[in-house]
Amino acid sequence: MAILQEISIFQCLRIAFIDRAIGKIEESSLVVLNFHMQKSVFIYTYGCQMNVHDSERMMALLTDSGYTRAEVPENADLLIFNTCAIREKAEQKFYSQLGRTKLLKKRHKGLKIAVAGCVAQETKEKLLQRAPHVDYLLGPQNIHLISSLLSGDLHSALFDDNHELASRELAASRESRIKAWVSIMYGCNNFCTYCIVPYTRGREVSRPSSSIISEIEDLARKGYREITILGQNVNSYRSDIDFPELLRRINAVNIDRIRFVTSHPRDFSERLIEIMAELPHVCEHVHLPVQSGSDRILNLMNRGYTYSEYRNKIDFLRKKIPEVAITADVIAGFPGETIRDHAATLGAIKEIEFDGLFAFKFSARKGTRACEMDGHLDEDCKAQRLSEILKLQEEITYSRNKALEGTTQEVLLEGASETDAQMLSGRTRTNKIVTIENNGEKAGSYVRVRVEKARQHSLFGINLSRGGVSS
Ligand code: SAM
Ligand code: SF4
Repeated sequence: MAILQEISIFQCLRIAFIDRAIGKIEESSLVVLNFHMQKSVFIYTYGCQMNVHDSERMMALLTDSGYTRAEVPENADLLIFNTCAIREKAEQKFYSQLGRTKLLKKRHKGLKIAVAGCVAQETKEKLLQRAPHVDYLLGPQNIHLISSLLSGDLHSALFDDNHELASRELAASRESRIKAWVSIMYGCNNFCTYCIVPYTRGREVSRPSSSIISEIEDLARKGYREITILGQNVNSYRSDIDFPELLRRINAVNIDRIRFVTSHPRDFSERLIEIMAELPHVCEHVHLPVQSGSDRILNLMNRGYTYSEYRNKIDFLRKKIPEVAITADVIAGFPGETIRDHAATLGAIKEIEFDGLFAFKFSARKGTRACEMDGHLDEDCKAQRLSEILKLQEEITYSRNKALEGTTQEVLLEGASETDAQMLSGRTRTNKIVTIENNGEKAGSYVRVRVEKARQHSLFGINLSRGGVSS
């Protein structure tokens, strides 16, 4: 078997085939042989959509190298941790799961463990001192090197330069057959003072527009209904064209729904809003992280806008696209945040009435400027402020959902509901989750749904497309 591991799967099958033909091995041995040749991989993915998509692309590369997907880590020959360093909590979760794999490695001698993503890039070789059972390190800009890493040419692939990744055409083994992620750029130049991303994902680099368009054309040919364009700050996309023009070209491809994350308020222009309003395939949902309602804190965060500038953009957006849903990110308890600053954030949330909000306790990240600032708040204070923000937003989310009762929405069905397998679940163009009774409609189809009941995080509706029900 040791020899078998040295030679390619193709060679193994050929040898096995010849040996069987000349009667040296039996059919059952061939099955065993095949079983031993097929290595399997399990990928743990933490953090943002970018990481989810990076895992899909690593999976495609590994499939090309002969790996299959293991359903559980216990069955895998290779474990990949695709990590997130944005907050301490995500990092802790990774380390505790990594710790548990020590035992697996003792039981399965050939098991290899790779740590990819932002924690690998941030911690570098120190990670190996903390967890000596890790075999490989792979930075988020170097996912294309995963196969070289495993073939033993490299032990770690951590670089600061991500130009190469942007010029690569990487396939993805996508989790969904309906919705797909498409990266248009990598890295970030913004250096928000709290954020580790520019240090772990490097400087901003945009993919050539022709390569993005041909990826999306391919997805359309394969029947994908929706794409979400990914970048840390998609508004600063720059190649031969800028982001509004890229959106226009993507809209010309035959794909039904186009979404994008994340937008930076400083670069979210009126021109972009006007183009969005014109383009029929661009969905009426914008995720525009505000982070704080206090100008003093926004300045300390190096966000590059004031709250009133943010507010004006929201007003313009709602004027041009009245049905638009707006979501945002907020950080509670940034260093030096006073009660007044916190009240300004609550005031902003009340005033804007977001459809949804992702709120986080400030987490000090080593190497960032905010980590060195004075006035860090204690955990209880941050937790208290976070819970006030979440409580306020819960009421607003519910009332925004309630306002949709009685309306008719186009819903793209995604499959069985996560909370009730008897129901089907899908999303509106505004990205609201809608559940309907399961009458055998197919995932990937569109239905017209009358919203009957608003819930805290979803809408329940009646399928009007089945006939017999009038709107
Ligand atoms: N590039 C996007 C942007 O600028 O909005 C998203 C970046 S990050 C993956 C997503 C969110 O995590 C940020 O919008 C911010 O609210 C939050 N975040 C980033 N660093 C954080 C930190 N150190 N502590 C708490 N939240 C943080
Ligand atoms: Fe981080 Fe700011 Fe870049 Fe977003 S824009 S990734 S928050 S530095």
